[in-house]
Amino acid sequence: MALRPLCGLAAGWLLAGCATHVNPYYDASKPHHAPDGFRNNHIARVNKPFSDLVRWRIAAIRDGLPPPAKEPTPTAAPNLAQLQQRQPSVTWIGHASTLVQCGGLNVLTDPVFSERASPLDFVGPKRAQPPGIALADLPPIDVVVISHNHYDHLDLASVRALSDRSDGRTLILVPLGLKPFLEREGVRNVAEMDWWDRRVVGGVEFHLVPVQHWSARGLGDRNQTLWGGWAVFAPDLRWYFSGDTGYSRDFADTRARLAAKARDGVLFDVALLAIGAYEPRWFMTEQHMNPAEAVQAHKDLGARRSVGIHWGTFSLTDEPLDAPPRDLAAARRAMGVADEDFFVVKIGETRTIAP
Ligand code: ZN
Ligand code: ZN
Repeated sequence: MALRPLCGLAAGWLLAGCATHVNPYYDASKPHHAPDGFRNNHIARVNKPFSDLVRWRIAAIRDGLPPPAKEPTPTAAPNLAQLQQRQPSVTWIGHASTLVQCGGLNVLTDPVFSERASPLDFVGPKRAQPPGIALADLPPIDVVVISHNHYDHLDLASVRALSDRSDGRTLILVPLGLKPFLEREGVRNVAEMDWWDRRVVGGVEFHLVPVQHWSARGLGDRNQTLWGGWAVFAPDLRWYFSGDTGYSRDFADTRARLAAKARDGVLFDVALLAIGAYEPRWFMTEQHMNPAEAVQAHKDLGARRSVGIHWGTFSLTDEPLDAPPRDLAAARRAMGVADEDFFVVKIGETRTIAP
């Protein structure tokens, strides 16, 4: 329990301010570039002092948080035959890992197939459910998009396996700074992008877009690599993937910047939005949305519908693993969003998205 926050949430606090870094990508004309790393658009950095981390962990241990889930996360057997047809669709693999089929491509978001979201294979957050599709059962993957380097989003073993499985044909799209790391680890065909960069693959446009978060993988590397969300435009599906993010004006900025791609006021056919890992709010607000903020993000983005992800798989924070869908339902009611416009799916379930 005490070691749990090592994964993604705590690594980087210790010694974070001790090392002097030079950002090799630094471009003074870009507000999110700093000489020593990267920063957010609307708050400088998600920078809690180490004493706050200790305060959170002590309180959680004292209060026995998170409470156990009342229900296991629903699962469904994957329909592998359907996936062969490459219809525009979203399949939830678990946590932030999804398979999106669009424009004839198979795209994976933040693929994590390992048992733990951790730098160590014997400690750290353990998955509550197996991946909705086993890695070996996946159709050929054309593109992987990575949001940032926290362990529950960038699982080196999974990315390396995907690269090897395709003999390097799978294109791995990452935010700035992650290409050298992945190449050192034997991952091939990696391309890194800055916020607002665009790359076209097989007629499908991939844009890295700003979100409010941070990065760290170990000690002393806080904010040395960039983080982001992805906006993807295929002829048959326009979709968004939030990665990890606090609620910020970045969603409205993304809609404004990409407004030319909207049709009838709708920019995205579907947005994959993180709805879990949000308690306690005093600690998490800047870095993770709660479901109510995700509903606001859904509106800000101009998404026709949204799917809530980043829940039900790894217990990272103080809310029960099954709380996000309940809180999402309450937020929908309070904010006048129809059930069918922002929903959750089962792990392993494929939802075809009509344009
Ligand atoms: Zn993160
Ligand atoms: Zn996360």
